[in-house]
Amino acid sequence: MAVPQRRISKTRKRMRRTHFKLSVEGLVTCPNCGEMIKAHHVCPKCGYYAGKAQYLDGKLVKEEKKAASAKKAPAKKSSKAKEAAKEEAK
Ligand SMILES: [Zn+2]
Repeated sequence: MAVPQRRISKTRKRMRRTHFKLSVEGLVTCPNCGEMIKAHHVCPKCGYYAGKAQYLDGKLVKEEKKAASAKKAPAKKSSKAKEAAKEEAK
């Protein structure tokens, strides 16, 4: 077993250990609220992901799409009608 030739002084030990430090990685600022958050994660403070959609308890909160839903509603009905037609065909 290797034995140190001489004792490392406090100063030399501490100088060596100045390079041992923890670095916080993978943190980015939330584009919505500016909080430091994990990258590719939903912001725990405001619930926004990538500044686009808001999620609460893992569910997507649709705020802005309510106005657009009026336009999309007939399309959904038509898709349901198509599904019903397929089921009837079977
Ligand atoms: Zn946020």
